[in-house]
Amino acid sequence: MIFAYKAKKHLGQNFLNDEIVVQKIIESINPSSNDIFVEIGPGMGAITLPIANTQAKLHGIELDQDLYSYLNKATEIYSNINLYHKDALSFKLSELGKDLRIVGNLPYNISTPLLFHVLKEKQCIRDLHFMLQKEVADRLCASPGNKKFGRLSIMFGAYMKTRHLFDIPSSSFKPSPKVTSSFVSIKPKLDNEIIVKNNEHLDLVVKKGFSQRRKTIKNALKGMISEDILTKHEIDPSQRPEDISILKWSKLSNVVTNNEE
Ligand code: SAM
Repeated sequence: MIFAYKAKKHLGQNFLNDEIVVQKIIESINPSSNDIFVEIGPGMGAITLPIANTQAKLHGIELDQDLYSYLNKATEIYSNINLYHKDALSFKLSELGKDLRIVGNLPYNISTPLLFHVLKEKQCIRDLHFMLQKEVADRLCASPGNKKFGRLSIMFGAYMKTRHLFDIPSSSFKPSPKVTSSFVSIKPKLDNEIIVKNNEHLDLVVKKGFSQRRKTIKNALKGMISEDILTKHEIDPSQRPEDISILKWSKLSNVVTNNEE
């Protein structure tokens, strides 16, 4: 630790404490001087400083007053670092520009809401690199047919390519979290065949579809989408929600948007 500091559990504070892992993360991100980064939860600056040392611009959003003050002081000489004492869950990323590169060793207690929050601002994002608890990373990157495939995989997969890069043992953090972590990359799909007319409808259909995983899609979507409509869109009504492709989920959300009956 850089200074005597008692990590705050309620803020998901597990600080990276492994130079080799930091190096691997920086190599994966591959920062360059023209990039604009936004770091969620810079903490004591484990990845903030290596990124800023490439002369890239970096905006850091830190909720903890103690860490914000500490890092502000420690980075006084860096004219390319801007720190904000703010909650990332309500921070409007688009105010920082376009083509943003978002990074963070996320506070695990709020990693899923944070993922959904940044997804809302996908139009101003070039890419995202996040450290997540492995279980969340697995759900994010899962493909149809996998037990972990669900709301997170679909809501991201409709717009983004997600990639699991590597796992990190809990011993690389201080204090050590109870779980293994994974580093992931997320990039907007450039040639996207999936067209979602209304993202809220996609969320609605997916939430209902997965509310009881063990049901068939026909029963899970009862009252929202009929068996005839499923068949019309080449979805076998007896399939399980986790076996249906993201393209087909997007078609189902468009059924709701178009009020098809
Ligand atoms: N980046 C540092 C590192 O890798 O060592 C710290 C990572 S630690 C897992 C998560 C960081 O997010 C902490 O600094 C914590 O204070 C901060 N944090 C927690 N909740 C936050 C929120 N809602 N908005 C912004 N930062 C938050």
